[in-house]
Amino acid sequence: MKIGIGYDVHQLVAGRPLILGGIEIPYEFGLAGHSDADVLVHALCDALFGAAGMGDIGEHFPDHDPRYKDAASLDLLKETWQRVGRYYKTIVNADAIVFAQAPKLSPYKAAMREKIARTLTIFPDRINIKATTTEGLGFIGKGHGMAAMCVVLID
Ligand code: MG
Repeated sequence: MKIGIGYDVHQLVAGRPLILGGIEIPYEFGLAGHSDADVLVHALCDALFGAAGMGDIGEHFPDHDPRYKDAASLDLLKETWQRVGRYYKTIVNADAIVFAQAPKLSPYKAAMREKIARTLTIFPDRINIKATTTEGLGFIGKGHGMAAMCVVLID
C-alpha cells in the first residue's frame, strides 16, 4: 500500500464558473486557471501521482500544453487513474479538505463525492470531502482564492 498527499491553490476571479469536485457551484466568482481550475480534483490527482511515486500533476498535464486549455479536471482525474492504475489496482480511500471562505460547500459535498467516485469507478464511501473556512484569515479568508489538500491510499 502507498500513501500520497496533494495540495493546490487557485485564485478566485469574476467571470469564471466555480467548478469544485467536478460540479458547478453557483457563486459570483470562479477559480482561475489553464484548465477549469478545479482545485479539489487537482489535489486528488497530485495525491494519486504522489502515492504511485509518479511525480506531480504539472509534469503529467503541463499548464502550457494547449490540450489542457479549459480541460475538465474530471477528465484529468480519469487519465491520472489510468496512468497510476497501470501499477496499482485499488484506491483504498481518499480524504480531502477544501479551504474556502465562501460559498458554503456543505450542500454540494455529496454530489462532489458521487462525481469523483464515478470518475474513478469506485464506491463513494471511499471518498471523503471536508470543507473549512480560514476564519477570515489570509488570502483564503479574504476571498482571493481557494486551496485544497488531499491524501489517498492505493494498493
Ligand atoms: Mg491546480
